[in-house]
Amino acid sequence: MEEDLRRLVEASRDSNADDEHDPEGQTIAYERSQLMALTDGLRTRLAELDAAGERVAAGTYGRCEVCGEPIPVERLEARPTARTCVTHAR
Ligand SMILES: [Zn+2]
Repeated sequence: MEEDLRRLVEASRDSNADDEHDPEGQTIAYERSQLMALTDGLRTRLAELDAAGERVAAGTYGRCEVCGEPIPVERLEARPTARTCVTHAR
């Protein structure tokens, strides 16, 4: 998945070489920035999921990192990577 995105980003970078003469240049630049934002978002999500997995392994998953109280199931269903209870959510 990330590999595909990287290739797309690189392909668009190549075709972007002469932006100023290319009427499509703006669109490609825009699409590239959209892709970059998407990739960043995915990377963040992956990191959150990794961290959640570590908490499952450590037996601390589903507990607030601030007060140690169990995080309500409804909150975990809505946001499985939540690290805190509603009270301590940033
Ligand atoms: Zn809490």
